[in-house]
Amino acid sequence: MISAHAFPALEKSFFPQETLLMGAGPVPQPPSVRQANSRIASHLGERMNEVIRQIRIMTRYAFQTTTPWIFGLSGPGSAAAEMAIGNLIHSQSKVLAISSGHFGLRMYEMARRHQATVTLFEFDGRDAFPLERLRELLKQQFFHVVTLVHGETSSTTINPELAAIAALCKQHGALVVVDAVCTLGTTEVLMDEWQLDVLFCWGQKGLSSIPGVSLIAFSAEAWGQVVQRTFTPRHWCYDALLAAEFWHHHRYHYTAPVNGLFALHEALRLLNAETLSVRIIRHRNSSRGLQHALLQLGLALAAPEVTRLNAVVGFFLPAGIASPDLIEHLLVEHKIEISASFGSPLLRIGQMGEQCRAENVFRLVNALALTLETLGHPVDRVAALESLTLLSEGAMPL
Ligand SMILES: *Cc1c(COP(=O)(O)O)cnc(C)c1O
Repeated sequence: MISAHAFPALEKSFFPQETLLMGAGPVPQPPSVRQANSRIASHLGERMNEVIRQIRIMTRYAFQTTTPWIFGLSGPGSAAAEMAIGNLIHSQSKVLAISSGHFGLRMYEMARRHQATVTLFEFDGRDAFPLERLRELLKQQFFHVVTLVHGETSSTTINPELAAIAALCKQHGALVVVDAVCTLGTTEVLMDEWQLDVLFCWGQKGLSSIPGVSLIAFSAEAWGQVVQRTFTPRHWCYDALLAAEFWHHHRYHYTAPVNGLFALHEALRLLNAETLSVRIIRHRNSSRGLQHALLQLGLALAAPEVTRLNAVVGFFLPAGIASPDLIEHLLVEHKIEISASFGSPLLRIGQMGEQCRAENVFRLVNALALTLETLGHPVDRVAALESLTLLSEGAMPL
């Protein structure tokens, strides 16, 4: 036996003081979600069946859909993308991957790994979506599946044309797969009304649940294709027909992430209780208040107003301040985390779920202003904080 002395324990906890997570995810969790996450039970049996049944119902509300084909899964948001793609795509499929950034490209890459014929349709998320270019392409070529992202967290832009794009794709016979990982629970997402065939999100971000459990829904049409498919999906864990065993027939597929499902249940319950409309207004007010404060601090916002994502706000630092220095100072001196962005100079502040609480936004803006000053860039901290007061009063600041 190797002695414990060979592996000396740290003298004090590695997690002495909690950091306020104001980055692009994960995000803080409400106390009742944490509490639910501390519970364990058998993953099969009457009690779990009821939990699953209620998660399915509450997810329908969150996704704004009547489809019964709702599933949870163990894994990150990317796993939900794998599940969406892997159940619809095979080597004979023709896929159109619409992308304006990192997460759009991720679905392109996933579709390619299934050896499908994949066409990449790139656009600059800052500009209006090129609907005419898409219309022309769809006239010329047939696609079984179109993938796209609602809120592109990497560039902090939203695609306001999602409904129009989906309608166009549907007219041309394609199934529409949508990544709503950062928009669900923060922004309006209407699965049925917008004719989305497969929609997925992650338990974290907008739902403020735990990382590692995701949600996905298939429309009746998409589910019909899953049931009638003639190929075997490559992923065993994310095979929707196998997942239906657990999610719809209360039988064993793999051991479900029980704690995570309890946490997700509580997070969905909180969303239901708050209602989507109140929640969306809370997010919009908070995010716009923050955007206003960043402008007051003399920072440049990354996205133009028409395509600006509220769920994650991107901004640039003034010349002379290095992003890593600012991130480090906020973390060490103020115990607040914000995010860089995949190697670009963009910095990102999350406005998802619990991040959209006045006390968190005030604390962040105050710390950001002090940090800018410390790093040699004087700002009007009071004016920035004042631009947030409307936020705490719940009024529309912009
Ligand atoms: C965070 C995010 C993902 C990835 O989620 P993971 O849980 O990290 O796999 C996918 N798409 C978007 C739009 C995201 O914001």
